[in-house]
This record gives sequence, C-alpha cells and structure tokens, in this order.
Amino acid sequence: MSKTIVTARDQVIREQVAVASRVLGNEDLGDFALGHVSLRDPDGRGVWMKATGWGFEEITPDLVQLLGWEGQILAGEGRRHVEYPIHTEIIRARRDVNSVVHAHAPHAVAFAALEEPLRPISHEGVIFVPPDIVRFTKTGDLILTRELGQALAQTLGARNAALMVHHGIVTAGASVEAAVVAAILLERACRKQLLAMAAGELRTWSSDEEALSKRSRVYSPELIYTYLIRKAQTSHGGGAV
Ligand SMILES: [Zn+2]
Repeated sequence: MSKTIVTARDQVIREQVAVASRVLGNEDLGDFALGHVSLRDPDGRGVWMKATGWGFEEITPDLVQLLGWEGQILAGEGRRHVEYPIHTEIIRARRDVNSVVHAHAPHAVAFAALEEPLRPISHEGVIFVPPDIVRFTKTGDLILTRELGQALAQTLGARNAALMVHHGIVTAGASVEAAVVAAILLERACRKQLLAMAAGELRTWSSDEEALSKRSRVYSPELIYTYLIRKAQTSHGGGAV
C-alpha cells in the first residue's frame, strides 16, 4: 500500500525508528507487540512509526510507516497502530517535539495505580520531578481518537513525560534519543520507588534544589542512547541494530 515515494532521507528516518524500537525492546519496554516510538516527518506530512503486529525488538526499517496527520498510511506496508493519535496529536501540539514514545511500561503502570507522588530518590527521578510528574486520567482505555490524543497532549503540556494511569507512559523529546531515554528512565524511576515503598515508608529524597541541580548533569541522553544501541547489538548476538 505504498503511496508515497520513499526518499533516501526517509530511509534514514525509518532506520532511526527501527533502531529506537529495538533499543526499547531490549530494555523491556514492550508489551508483546504493543508500544511505539515515532519521529516527526521533516516535510510535515505526519509521523513515522512502526506497523502494528510486531514487537519492538523485531523492527526493521521496512516495518516503519509514514502516517498522515489523520492516520492515513502514506508509505509503508501493513496495518497501523490504532493508538497513532498519541503521536500525531502530541507532535502537532508541540513544535519543540520531534519524537514521542508510548509504552505500557510495567513498573510505571503499577506505580501510577498507587496515586503516590513520584519522588527524586534516585538519579532517574530528577529527570521528571520536581514538580510531580503529570498524570493522564481521562481514560485508561486506548487512545483511539484525535480528541483523546489532544487531551493527552494537553495533560503533557510542556513536560517531557506523563503517566497514563491504568495504561502506560508517554514521553516526548526534541530528538529520538531524548524521548527513548526518557521512557527508559521513567520506568526505572518508578521501579526504584516501588522497590523502596515495598520495604517501608519513604523517608528521604532529594530537595527540589538538589534534584534540579542534578537534572542537567546526571544523564546525557546521547551517551546513554549510544550505549543502549551497543547493548542491544550485543544482546542480539551482534546483529545490526
Ligand atoms: Zn497503549
């Protein structure tokens, strides 16, 4: 069902989406074949994301589609994910965002159900708080419509991440590195807080001042992403990532 001529530049974007997908799969952000990462089309046609039916770790460039702003498949084979409005509406609403990740991250979902504030108890936490992470509570159902996508974008506001209560997470970044690394760090921040809360009551966490100071220096998305690509290559027996 290819309708658009795919250029060399398009192929580079497809490769970027495929690599990002495999990194997310290698970090256990997948939910069987669910979850997706998108990149803004530089020509304004819409977003590039993987076709439905495939797990993150399986994605190759030929499984990446160009979707128009209303979800029409402009390039690529197969069917699209029904939750494409998460990507189209956030990228449409945020000029500073070029990449969005949506995942059913298990520790984040478990943490969100506790209705506890996310605290900066670790390096990961300072990437998201203070102020407390935002939570999308309009529905825990799938984001199937433009209206729900817009509502999610509104909840996200200018932030880099939101918990989607009873569902998953969404992260947004200027680059695919930023969006992917934010998704992985948010899952880890939730996992560490759950670990602490399982052992007892939280007694201490970084002050706002300390957390904000750490935010700019603890993690370089580019460095982490480069490492995660190498890690995914190693995990898959040295295959191309
Ligand atoms: Zn979902």
